[in-house]
Amino acid sequence: MSYSFEKKYDCVIVGAGAIGCSIAFFLAKESQGKYKVAIVDRNVVGDETSSGAAGMLAAQIESESAGPFFDLQVQSREIFKWLSGELEDTTGINIQYLPKGIAALAIDSAQEKILKDRMDWQTKAGHACEWLSPDTLAQKFPFIKKKSLGALVATQDGQVSSSALVQALSEAAKKLGVDIHESDGFDDLQLKHPKHDALETYLSRYVADKFVFAAGSWTGRLLNGAVPVDPVKGQILIYETPSGWAKSRNWQTPIYAGEVPNSPVPAACYLVPKGDNEIWVGATSEKRGLDKSENEAASNALAKYAAEVMPDLSSFKLKTVWIGLRPGTPDNLPVLGLLPGSENAYVASGHYRNGILLSAVTGKLMADLILKGKTTLNIDPFSPARFSKIPA
Ligand SMILES: Cc1cc2nc3c(=O)[nH]c(=O)nc-3n(C[C@H](O)[C@H](O)[C@H](O)COP(=O)(O)OP(=O)(O)OC[C@H]3O[C@@H](n4cnc5c(N)ncnc54)[C@H](O)[C@@H]3O)c2cc1C
Repeated sequence: MSYSFEKKYDCVIVGAGAIGCSIAFFLAKESQGKYKVAIVDRNVVGDETSSGAAGMLAAQIESESAGPFFDLQVQSREIFKWLSGELEDTTGINIQYLPKGIAALAIDSAQEKILKDRMDWQTKAGHACEWLSPDTLAQKFPFIKKKSLGALVATQDGQVSSSALVQALSEAAKKLGVDIHESDGFDDLQLKHPKHDALETYLSRYVADKFVFAAGSWTGRLLNGAVPVDPVKGQILIYETPSGWAKSRNWQTPIYAGEVPNSPVPAACYLVPKGDNEIWVGATSEKRGLDKSENEAASNALAKYAAEVMPDLSSFKLKTVWIGLRPGTPDNLPVLGLLPGSENAYVASGHYRNGILLSAVTGKLMADLILKGKTTLNIDPFSPARFSKIPA
């Protein structure tokens, strides 16, 4: 294949989702624009999973134990405290950062025990939690009609708008000199070891010192199986409410309401008030490769249960069903670092259900790794080497 032009960069990132855009932003910010960075995406910025995820910053509410993954999540949540303001100042885009907590209902005594144990270890470790009695729960969220034994609230968790976040990160990166090449990609990659030299895409040839593969659910396939990142399909129902419905009820806290009964695929129900007039209800979980078609029976089961939890939903219009592919890994942990056998090809993927939350810390850590060769947080537990397969 002959190329009309060749482009040279210090670092080329494949994938313009939350992860790729955050890495580009932090590389440009930390090098004060001196490091020449490009993102290449076969679609447009934020066109895949990062565009429609529920955007919860769920660092604590689902965490069962302390450890490196918990630390990663909490650090990322901390970064959002300044990142949201900085992105708005730089780009004018409000990522709708709402650190208003996330609640989880104790639907039965087994769940109550799990949540109370969680509250116990997290409180002892210095992370704020609150227990709501059934009466307090009813006062705070009167529209939740599902009977429960109370609820745990991780008061420092929160949410953002995923689509606004990706747009803001990409715009801020551009202002710092990052080039974003959309509608360009590749299907076949033969990585050279120990040093890769160039990425040959549909339209161009990108020569760089370093490469980062942040292609979400497609990363495993792009790297010929060198890392086991595989798609896990998720469906979210987006309801339209009258303008200001949630706001007039002072509702900004996402609520987890347990497993969806009689669902044909695993599904856990959560309700997230979004913007001025939407409630997002998620989500199913299904391994069907790259298939993004709707499983209607699963949507129906989710809708039925959600209406039991919050009967008002029945009077709202179901606007759309959003379907995305979570980049899953066998141990549900992200994959961050140099590919085994390579000196300059990095992977940042496998963020599964937490890629929006983890985008901030991933950007920061990967930028540190690429620019300084070390990170402030130990990322060995997330190393691609744990899967120990050298790319073909
Ligand atoms: C239903 C659902 C709900 C979710 N809710 C939350 C939540 O509340 N909180 C949270 O933190 N996370 C949530 N997530 C998870 C989160 O959305 C993902 O972990 C995150 O978006 C992954 O980001 P990414 O940048 O790795 O991937 P993506 O956003 O998918 O980006 C990958 C990019 O790579 C590009 N690409 C692929 N192949 C190529 C190629 N060959 N050449 C060039 N470019 C290529 C794609 O076009 C795409 O733009 C949810 C996910 C789903 C499905």
